[in-house]
Amino acid sequence: MCDQHSINGASRLQRLLMPIYAKWVDDTLGFYLTMGRMSRMPLIGGLVRFFASLYGRYYHGGRAATVEECLEIIDSASQIKVVDCSCRLKEKRCEAPIKTCITVNTGAEVFGTLKKGELISQEKAAEIIKESYHNGLIRAVHHCIEPDTYAVCNCCTCCCVPYRLRSEFNIETAVQNGSMVAEIDHESCKQCGNCQKACPQKAIFPERSIVIAEDCLGCGLCVHQCQFNAVRMVKRDKDLVPFKDGKAEKVLMFTIFMIVILPLGVLFRFSNKLKKI
Ligand code: SF4
Ligand code: SF4
Ligand code: SF4
Repeated sequence: MCDQHSINGASRLQRLLMPIYAKWVDDTLGFYLTMGRMSRMPLIGGLVRFFASLYGRYYHGGRAATVEECLEIIDSASQIKVVDCSCRLKEKRCEAPIKTCITVNTGAEVFGTLKKGELISQEKAAEIIKESYHNGLIRAVHHCIEPDTYAVCNCCTCCCVPYRLRSEFNIETAVQNGSMVAEIDHESCKQCGNCQKACPQKAIFPERSIVIAEDCLGCGLCVHQCQFNAVRMVKRDKDLVPFKDGKAEKVLMFTIFMIVILPLGVLFRFSNKLKKI
């Protein structure tokens, strides 16, 4: 498939909005953080968080995934492109690798039309995912307008804008819990504490052999840290709230985005700039 080929299978709205996101990815990430900060403002904060959460669920959001789930997505991808991690390039809070943002299918096609990223094989993508896991990065799969995954991201917790929206601003749909959850085997656990140190969510308590399911992202980093095979990932009892793919939700979210979220974001950024003059 060539870089210039049309964006097959994408809805009109996806064709319209995804290239905007891909072209101005830095601005979009900055805007999302602004939205996060706005969610702490008195009076309007709750409302912003409410709409931002809906936006993450129905429009542009993500969920955590295990290595195995990501490899399945890669295996069935029609096209794969690795692009630089915009969050780490922007925030520069850590030394984690930059070439870890793996776009697939429509995502790869959109970035391709903008001449961004590098076409890679399924094997190379799998290698990046496994290496990132060994480097302690978490995996999040992202959707934009359509429920299908457009990117398999390998994220740190310090720079990643979607993760920060969740961890700092309580907008959980930016990176929802994945479909798997960690479980400790009491018999095999030697209480070394390594899983706890690796957990980005402080969700695992080996001393009591428990994992707080609501806090567990489903990233699987604890599994990698356990030398005694005492942690495993199991299917979550209550699965994710599915991405709603109805026309009504899309129209609703587009309207809310245009008349509420975007003007508020622009206003907030503009007033910040004015303060600096
Ligand atoms: S979502 Fe993750 S991999 Fe993608 S740009 Fe942000 S930190 Fe990088
Ligand atoms: S890493 Fe394994 S052995 Fe160590 S505390 Fe966690 S579950 Fe137990
Ligand atoms: S317990 Fe922590 S490290 Fe393990 S899967 Fe859940 S969030 Fe990830």
